[in-house]
Amino acid sequence: MHTPHRIENGRKFRIASLSPTPPKNAPSKPDGIRATETLLPRLYALQEKLFADGRKGLLIVLQAMDTGGKDGTVQHVFSGVNPMGCRVTSFKAPTPEELRHPFLWRATNALPPRGSIGIFNRSHYEDVLVVRVHDLVPKPVWSRRYSQINEWERMLTEDGYVVLKFFLHIGRDEQKERLQARLDDPAKRWKFEPADLAERKHWDDYMKAYQDVIRKCSTPWAPWVVVPSNRKWYRNLVVASAIVDALQKLDLKLPEPDFDPSAIRIE
Ligand code: AMP
Ligand code: MG
Repeated sequence: MHTPHRIENGRKFRIASLSPTPPKNAPSKPDGIRATETLLPRLYALQEKLFADGRKGLLIVLQAMDTGGKDGTVQHVFSGVNPMGCRVTSFKAPTPEELRHPFLWRATNALPPRGSIGIFNRSHYEDVLVVRVHDLVPKPVWSRRYSQINEWERMLTEDGYVVLKFFLHIGRDEQKERLQARLDDPAKRWKFEPADLAERKHWDDYMKAYQDVIRKCSTPWAPWVVVPSNRKWYRNLVVASAIVDALQKLDLKLPEPDFDPSAIRIE
């Protein structure tokens, strides 16, 4: 299987050329939904094998603009996964204690133990996204972080981790509709934050910051998958297939017993 939209070398990546709608060769919506439904049980089985094998960890990074679908992706793609082997960490504005540490400290603390899956809902990339857009640290500081992130991710992959990063890309019009839906629907209103409107004003700055993230931090060891995410069914399909693909390549093995099962008699 091959993962569409996977970028290992982003040097020439242009965000303006990236459509947030499914490409022409995408399956139809019913076929796409069916394909995702067949992937989820495979994901479940692979997660169990990851756990039993115990030598590898999987780190999944989800980044998107507000309403981009990070929560929805966690909910749909991981619906069938055993919570025992899976942990979601949401990255908010850093606490005073986090600010007293190197920016990768909280990401390191949130790493999944080997044998399990860690999902970052936002991540260390906020330190070159929101931090850059709002000048929260001086430029010389944030501009060094791209290579620091690449080295940190390389260290992880050399130490038994698989790192998969997803940018859920929605269009500005789609965000408008989703924000409006949050306002209009009483069941969704709790998710609406007036601060999201202030962030929306910086859309172009964020797109530039995302473009640089993908240009500078798409590596063979920790690729970005840029997911056209205006359609949720297509987003779920791309994310689920990328994860199944990555787990399948790991050659996971169930451990051999250190006893002879045929010699054991249970009275
Ligand atoms: P939400 O994902 O809606 O819960 O919002 C979390 C908020 O925390 C977003 O506005 C992020 O931009 C913000 N945030 C996350 N990481 C950082 C960071 N390193 N520095 C500043 N703000 C951050
Ligand atoms: Mg929010």
